[in-house]
Amino acid sequence: MNFGYREVCLDHDTGPRHPESPDRLRAIRRALKEHHGVEYVAASDVDVDLVTEVHGADYIDEFRAFCEEGGGNWDADTVAVEATWDAALAAAGLAVWAAESALAGDDGRDTPFALGRPPGHHAVGDDAMGFCFINNVAVAAQAALEADAERVAVFDWDVHHGNGTQDIFYDRSDVFYASIHEDGLYPGTGDVDETGTGDAEGTNLNVKYKPGADTADYLAAIDECLAPAIRDYDPDLLLISAGFDAHEHDPISRMRVSTEGYGAMTDRVRTLADACGADLGFVLEGGYGLDTLADSLTTVHEVFDGYQPMEPDDEVSDDARDVLDRLADQGFGSK
Ligand SMILES: [Zn+2]
Repeated sequence: MNFGYREVCLDHDTGPRHPESPDRLRAIRRALKEHHGVEYVAASDVDVDLVTEVHGADYIDEFRAFCEEGGGNWDADTVAVEATWDAALAAAGLAVWAAESALAGDDGRDTPFALGRPPGHHAVGDDAMGFCFINNVAVAAQAALEADAERVAVFDWDVHHGNGTQDIFYDRSDVFYASIHEDGLYPGTGDVDETGTGDAEGTNLNVKYKPGADTADYLAAIDECLAPAIRDYDPDLLLISAGFDAHEHDPISRMRVSTEGYGAMTDRVRTLADACGADLGFVLEGGYGLDTLADSLTTVHEVFDGYQPMEPDDEVSDDARDVLDRLADQGFGSK
Protein backbone atom coordinates (compact mmCIF):
# COMPACT_ATOMS: atom_id res chain seq x y z
CA MET A 1 0.00 0.00 0.00
CA ASN A 2 0.93 3.65 -0.23
CA PHE A 3 0.94 5.20 3.24
CA GLY A 4 0.47 8.91 3.74
CA TYR A 5 2.71 9.92 6.62
CA ARG A 6 4.38 13.05 8.00
CA GLU A 7 6.70 13.43 10.97
CA VAL A 8 4.82 16.53 12.14
CA CYS A 9 1.97 14.26 13.23
CA LEU A 10 4.30 13.00 15.99
CA ASP A 11 4.50 16.53 17.44
CA HIS A 12 0.88 16.42 18.63
CA ASP A 13 1.97 15.63 22.20
CA THR A 14 -0.90 14.39 24.36
CA GLY A 15 1.18 13.77 27.49
CA PRO A 16 2.63 10.68 29.14
CA ARG A 17 -0.54 8.72 29.96
CA HIS A 18 -2.80 9.47 27.03
CA PRO A 19 -3.82 6.46 24.90
CA GLU A 20 -3.74 8.50 21.68
CA SER A 21 0.03 8.97 21.66
CA PRO A 22 2.69 9.43 18.96
CA ASP A 23 3.87 5.91 19.85
CA ARG A 24 0.90 4.65 17.85
CA LEU A 25 2.42 5.88 14.60
CA ARG A 26 5.88 4.74 15.65
CA ALA A 27 4.56 1.21 16.30
CA ILE A 28 2.86 1.12 12.90
CA ARG A 29 6.00 2.29 11.10
CA ARG A 30 8.16 -0.22 12.97
CA ALA A 31 5.84 -3.08 12.01
CA LEU A 32 5.58 -2.00 8.37
CA LYS A 33 9.39 -2.11 8.11
CA GLU A 34 9.13 -5.90 8.13
CA HIS A 35 6.91 -5.91 5.03
CA HIS A 36 7.64 -5.33 1.39
CA GLY A 37 5.59 -3.14 -0.89
CA VAL A 38 5.32 -0.32 1.64
CA GLU A 39 5.64 3.15 0.12
CA TYR A 40 5.43 6.42 2.06
CA VAL A 41 4.00 9.62 0.66
CA ALA A 42 4.30 13.02 2.41
CA ALA A 43 1.21 14.95 1.32
CA SER A 44 0.87 18.69 1.77
CA ASP A 45 -1.20 20.43 4.44
CA VAL A 46 -4.91 20.67 3.91
CA ASP A 47 -6.24 23.98 2.62
CA VAL A 48 -8.04 25.65 5.55
CA ASP A 49 -10.77 26.81 3.14
CA LEU A 50 -11.56 23.15 2.49
CA VAL A 51 -11.69 22.43 6.23
CA THR A 52 -14.27 25.17 6.69
CA GLU A 53 -16.51 23.46 4.14
CA VAL A 54 -17.23 20.85 6.85
CA HIS A 55 -16.39 22.80 10.04
CA GLY A 56 -17.58 26.21 11.16
CA ALA A 57 -15.00 28.95 10.47
CA ASP A 58 -15.44 30.29 14.02
CA TYR A 59 -14.61 26.91 15.50
CA ILE A 60 -11.51 26.53 13.32
CA ASP A 61 -10.34 30.04 14.33
CA GLU A 62 -10.87 29.10 17.96
CA PHE A 63 -8.89 25.87 17.56
CA ARG A 64 -6.04 27.70 15.84
CA ALA A 65 -5.93 30.36 18.60
CA PHE A 66 -6.06 27.65 21.29
CA CYS A 67 -2.93 26.04 19.81
CA GLU A 68 -1.15 29.37 19.27
CA GLU A 69 -1.63 30.09 22.97
CA GLY A 70 0.07 26.81 23.82
CA GLY A 71 -2.94 24.50 23.91
CA GLY A 72 -4.08 22.59 27.00
CA ASN A 73 -7.22 20.62 27.74
CA TRP A 74 -9.98 21.39 25.24
CA ASP A 75 -12.08 18.97 27.26
CA ALA A 76 -11.30 16.21 29.75
CA ASP A 77 -9.61 13.92 27.21
CA THR A 78 -9.02 16.11 24.14
CA VAL A 79 -5.68 17.85 24.56
CA ALA A 80 -3.56 20.06 22.33
CA VAL A 81 -0.12 21.62 22.31
CA GLU A 82 1.11 24.41 20.07
CA ALA A 83 2.13 21.90 17.39
CA THR A 84 -1.32 20.31 17.32
CA TRP A 85 -2.50 22.86 14.75
CA ASP A 86 0.25 21.86 12.32
CA ALA A 87 -0.30 18.15 13.02
CA ALA A 88 -4.04 18.52 12.42
CA LEU A 89 -3.52 20.30 9.09
CA ALA A 90 -1.08 17.58 8.09
CA ALA A 91 -3.43 14.75 9.16
CA ALA A 92 -6.33 16.26 7.22
CA GLY A 93 -4.00 16.80 4.25
CA LEU A 94 -3.04 13.12 4.35
CA ALA A 95 -6.71 12.13 4.32
CA VAL A 96 -7.33 14.40 1.34
CA TRP A 97 -4.33 12.81 -0.37
CA ALA A 98 -5.86 9.35 0.23
CA ALA A 99 -9.11 10.43 -1.41
CA GLU A 100 -7.46 12.17 -4.35
CA SER A 101 -4.94 9.40 -4.91
CA ALA A 102 -7.74 6.80 -4.95
CA LEU A 103 -9.75 8.92 -7.39
CA ALA A 104 -6.66 9.26 -9.57
CA GLY A 105 -6.65 5.48 -9.95
CA ASP A 106 -4.26 4.26 -7.25
CA ASP A 107 -5.57 0.83 -6.30
CA GLY A 108 -4.38 -2.71 -5.68
CA ARG A 109 -0.86 -2.55 -4.25
CA ASP A 110 -0.98 1.26 -4.53
CA THR A 111 -4.17 1.64 -2.46
CA PRO A 112 -3.75 4.73 -0.23
CA PHE A 113 -3.84 4.68 3.58
CA ALA A 114 -3.50 7.98 5.46
CA LEU A 115 -1.59 7.55 8.74
CA GLY A 116 -2.35 10.89 10.35
CA ARG A 117 -3.03 12.00 13.90
CA PRO A 118 -4.84 13.54 15.69
CA PRO A 119 -7.68 11.29 14.55
CA GLY A 120 -10.89 12.85 13.26
CA HIS A 121 -14.20 11.01 13.40
CA HIS A 122 -15.48 12.49 16.68
CA ALA A 123 -14.93 16.11 15.59
CA VAL A 124 -18.34 17.64 14.86
CA GLY A 125 -19.02 20.69 12.71
CA ASP A 126 -18.41 23.21 15.48
CA ASP A 127 -16.43 21.42 18.19
CA ALA A 128 -13.48 19.17 18.99
CA MET A 129 -14.11 16.08 21.09
CA GLY A 130 -12.85 12.54 21.70
CA PHE A 131 -9.16 13.24 20.82
CA CYS A 132 -10.29 14.77 17.47
CA PHE A 133 -10.05 18.37 16.19
CA ILE A 134 -10.46 18.27 12.40
CA ASN A 135 -12.64 15.51 10.96
CA ASN A 136 -10.07 14.13 8.53
CA VAL A 137 -12.32 11.68 6.69
CA ALA A 138 -15.07 14.30 6.34
CA VAL A 139 -12.61 16.76 4.82
CA ALA A 140 -11.41 14.00 2.49
CA ALA A 141 -14.98 13.21 1.41
CA GLN A 142 -15.59 16.91 0.79
CA ALA A 143 -12.41 17.13 -1.30
CA ALA A 144 -13.55 14.19 -3.39
CA LEU A 145 -16.94 15.82 -4.01
CA GLU A 146 -15.22 19.03 -5.09
CA ALA A 147 -13.09 16.96 -7.47
CA ASP A 148 -15.09 14.64 -9.71
CA ALA A 149 -16.96 12.36 -7.26
CA GLU A 150 -20.73 12.71 -7.11
CA ARG A 151 -21.26 10.44 -4.11
CA VAL A 152 -18.90 9.26 -1.36
CA ALA A 153 -19.48 6.46 1.15
CA VAL A 154 -17.63 6.32 4.46
CA PHE A 155 -17.46 3.01 6.33
CA ASP A 156 -16.26 3.56 9.89
CA TRP A 157 -15.06 0.34 11.52
CA ASP A 158 -13.52 2.08 14.54
CA VAL A 159 -15.07 0.62 17.71
CA HIS A 160 -16.51 4.04 18.61
CA HIS A 161 -19.34 5.68 16.74
CA GLY A 162 -18.08 8.43 14.41
CA ASN A 163 -20.58 10.95 15.72
CA GLY A 164 -18.70 13.80 14.06
CA THR A 165 -18.84 12.32 10.58
CA GLN A 166 -22.51 11.47 11.07
CA ASP A 167 -23.21 15.00 12.35
CA ILE A 168 -21.48 16.70 9.42
CA PHE A 169 -23.29 14.69 6.75
CA TYR A 170 -26.58 13.86 8.50
CA ASP A 171 -28.62 16.11 6.20
CA ARG A 172 -26.49 15.63 3.08
CA SER A 173 -27.33 12.94 0.54
CA ASP A 174 -23.95 13.19 -1.23
CA VAL A 175 -22.20 11.26 1.57
CA PHE A 176 -23.35 7.89 2.94
CA TYR A 177 -22.08 7.21 6.46
CA ALA A 178 -22.02 3.65 7.84
CA SER A 179 -20.57 2.58 11.18
CA ILE A 180 -20.19 -0.56 13.28
CA HIS A 181 -19.60 0.34 16.93
CA GLU A 182 -19.90 -0.86 20.52
CA ASP A 183 -23.00 -0.03 22.54
CA GLY A 184 -22.16 1.73 25.80
CA LEU A 185 -18.87 3.26 24.66
CA TYR A 186 -18.08 6.94 24.09
CA PRO A 187 -19.82 9.07 22.83
CA GLY A 188 -23.11 7.16 23.17
CA THR A 189 -24.55 8.16 19.79
CA GLY A 190 -25.16 5.96 16.77
CA ASP A 191 -28.50 4.28 17.37
CA VAL A 192 -29.99 2.05 14.73
CA ASP A 193 -32.84 4.50 14.11
CA GLU A 194 -30.48 7.40 13.22
CA THR A 195 -30.80 7.09 9.46
CA GLY A 196 -30.35 10.63 8.12
CA THR A 197 -32.77 13.49 7.66
CA GLY A 198 -34.59 15.23 4.80
CA ASP A 199 -33.11 14.35 1.41
CA ALA A 200 -30.46 12.37 3.27
CA GLU A 201 -32.95 9.93 4.83
CA GLY A 202 -31.51 6.45 4.37
CA THR A 203 -27.89 7.60 3.95
CA ASN A 204 -26.83 6.98 7.55
CA LEU A 205 -26.42 3.42 8.82
CA ASN A 206 -25.54 2.50 12.39
CA VAL A 207 -24.75 -1.06 13.43
CA LYS A 208 -24.64 -0.68 17.20
CA TYR A 209 -23.51 -4.00 18.62
CA LYS A 210 -23.41 -5.10 22.24
CA PRO A 211 -19.95 -5.61 23.79
CA GLY A 212 -18.40 -8.92 22.79
CA ALA A 213 -19.21 -8.87 19.07
CA ASP A 214 -16.58 -10.80 17.15
CA THR A 215 -15.24 -11.09 13.64
CA ALA A 216 -18.19 -13.21 12.46
CA ASP A 217 -20.62 -10.56 13.72
CA TYR A 218 -18.69 -7.78 11.97
CA LEU A 219 -18.56 -9.71 8.71
CA ALA A 220 -22.29 -10.44 8.91
CA ALA A 221 -22.95 -6.71 9.32
CA ILE A 222 -20.93 -6.04 6.20
CA ASP A 223 -22.35 -8.90 4.12
CA GLU A 224 -26.00 -8.52 5.07
CA CYS A 225 -26.36 -4.84 5.72
CA LEU A 226 -23.55 -2.44 4.81
CA ALA A 227 -22.51 -3.94 1.50
CA PRO A 228 -26.05 -4.13 0.03
CA ALA A 229 -26.83 -0.58 1.24
CA ILE A 230 -23.61 0.86 -0.15
CA ARG A 231 -24.04 -1.03 -3.43
CA ASP A 232 -27.49 0.53 -3.75
CA TYR A 233 -26.04 3.96 -2.99
CA ASP A 234 -23.43 3.42 -5.74
CA PRO A 235 -20.63 5.72 -4.51
CA ASP A 236 -17.72 6.89 -6.64
CA LEU A 237 -15.38 6.67 -3.66
CA LEU A 238 -15.39 4.45 -0.58
CA LEU A 239 -13.39 5.77 2.38
CA ILE A 240 -12.68 3.57 5.38
CA SER A 241 -12.49 5.30 8.76
CA ALA A 242 -10.03 2.67 9.92
CA GLY A 243 -9.71 2.41 13.67
CA PHE A 244 -8.37 -0.80 15.15
CA ASP A 245 -9.81 -0.51 18.65
CA ALA A 246 -12.45 -3.23 18.13
CA HIS A 247 -9.56 -5.71 18.33
CA GLU A 248 -9.99 -8.46 20.93
CA HIS A 249 -6.85 -7.27 22.76
CA ASP A 250 -7.40 -3.52 22.50
CA PRO A 251 -7.34 -2.05 26.03
CA ILE A 252 -10.36 0.25 25.70
CA SER A 253 -13.09 -1.88 24.13
CA ARG A 254 -14.77 -5.21 24.73
CA MET A 255 -15.23 -6.19 21.09
CA ARG A 256 -13.46 -9.32 19.87
CA VAL A 257 -12.34 -8.72 16.29
CA SER A 258 -9.18 -10.71 15.58
CA THR A 259 -6.13 -9.51 13.69
CA GLU A 260 -7.16 -11.87 10.91
CA GLY A 261 -10.63 -10.33 11.09
CA TYR A 262 -9.25 -6.97 9.96
CA GLY A 263 -7.86 -8.80 6.96
CA ALA A 264 -11.25 -10.35 6.21
CA MET A 265 -12.94 -6.94 6.53
CA THR A 266 -10.34 -5.48 4.18
CA ASP A 267 -11.09 -8.19 1.64
CA ARG A 268 -14.81 -7.38 1.96
CA VAL A 269 -14.42 -3.63 1.43
CA ARG A 270 -12.14 -4.18 -1.55
CA THR A 271 -14.75 -6.46 -3.11
CA LEU A 272 -17.47 -3.95 -2.27
CA ALA A 273 -15.59 -1.06 -3.87
CA ASP A 274 -15.01 -3.16 -7.00
CA ALA A 275 -18.71 -4.08 -7.15
CA CYS A 276 -19.66 -0.39 -7.03
CA GLY A 277 -16.94 0.68 -9.44
CA ALA A 278 -15.79 2.92 -6.56
CA ASP A 279 -12.25 3.93 -5.68
CA LEU A 280 -11.01 2.98 -2.22
CA GLY A 281 -8.93 4.76 0.40
CA PHE A 282 -8.23 4.35 4.13
CA VAL A 283 -7.91 6.95 6.88
CA LEU A 284 -6.55 6.02 10.33
CA GLU A 285 -8.79 6.64 13.35
CA GLY A 286 -8.25 4.93 16.75
CA GLY A 287 -6.52 1.79 17.99
CA TYR A 288 -4.79 1.85 21.37
CA GLY A 289 -2.97 -1.44 21.88
CA LEU A 290 0.32 -0.68 20.14
CA ASP A 291 1.00 -4.26 19.05
CA THR A 292 -2.57 -5.03 18.03
CA LEU A 293 -2.82 -1.73 16.16
CA ALA A 294 0.40 -2.40 14.28
CA ASP A 295 -0.42 -6.05 13.57
CA SER A 296 -3.95 -5.30 12.39
CA LEU A 297 -2.85 -2.47 10.15
CA THR A 298 -0.09 -4.55 8.60
CA THR A 299 -2.70 -7.25 7.93
CA VAL A 300 -4.66 -4.67 5.91
CA HIS A 301 -1.47 -3.99 3.98
CA GLU A 302 -0.83 -7.71 3.43
CA VAL A 303 -4.28 -8.20 1.92
CA PHE A 304 -3.42 -5.63 -0.73
CA ASP A 305 -0.09 -7.40 -1.15
CA GLY A 306 -1.80 -10.67 -2.08
CA TYR A 307 -2.52 -12.31 1.28
CA GLN A 308 -5.83 -14.20 1.48
CA PRO A 309 -7.19 -13.85 5.04
CA MET A 310 -8.91 -16.75 6.79
CA GLU A 311 -12.64 -16.72 7.42
CA PRO A 312 -13.88 -17.26 10.99
CA ASP A 313 -15.71 -20.50 11.87
CA ASP A 314 -18.02 -18.86 14.41
CA GLU A 315 -21.74 -18.42 13.96
CA VAL A 316 -23.30 -14.97 14.14
CA SER A 317 -24.33 -14.29 17.75
CA ASP A 318 -27.97 -13.86 18.78
CA ASP A 319 -27.25 -10.29 19.92
CA ALA A 320 -25.84 -9.39 16.53
CA ARG A 321 -28.72 -11.11 14.75
CA ASP A 322 -31.19 -8.93 16.72
CA VAL A 323 -29.42 -5.75 15.57
CA LEU A 324 -29.30 -6.89 11.95
CA ASP A 325 -33.01 -7.75 12.09
CA ARG A 326 -33.79 -4.25 13.42
CA LEU A 327 -31.75 -2.74 10.60
CA ALA A 328 -33.61 -4.86 8.06
CA ASP A 329 -36.82 -3.36 9.48
CA GLN A 330 -35.32 0.09 8.76
CA GLY A 331 -34.86 -0.93 5.14
CA PHE A 332 -31.16 -1.81 5.45
CA GLY A 333 -30.14 -5.30 4.69
CA SER A 334 -30.76 -8.31 2.57
CA LYS A 335 -33.58 -9.87 4.58
ZN1 LIG B 1 -12.15 4.56 18.49
